[in-house]
Amino acid sequence: MSTLKVSSHDIRKIIFDNFNDTDTRFSNDEILGFLNQMDRYKTLDDVLDFEEVLLDMEKSGLLRPIAQNFNTRYYRLWNILEPATCKACNFTTYFAQAEESKACPQCKSKM
Ligand SMILES: [Zn+2]
Repeated sequence: MSTLKVSSHDIRKIIFDNFNDTDTRFSNDEILGFLNQMDRYKTLDDVLDFEEVLLDMEKSGLLRPIAQNFNTRYYRLWNILEPATCKACNFTTYFAQAEESKACPQCKSKM
């Protein structure tokens, strides 16, 4: 069994579609449940690795960790996500306005 890195855009889209509210509590397990429904991940036997993506989102000021129970981590959003389009490659993803060092998940340009 191998490990597959999950794109930060996919996590941002899941949060935008399902948890985009500063009062909503959600967990890494719930995010994994949504990832497992996506075509790009559901057919694979790989272990989905997105721990690092969540840590980056804590550092950037998007995710507010509120509790941990064994391997389950619970979060709230500091600020809601809004769609943002990269000026360099036209890719649309989601950022909270207050987040630091926003980089396009596709071409890595500053957004
Ligand atoms: Zn871009």
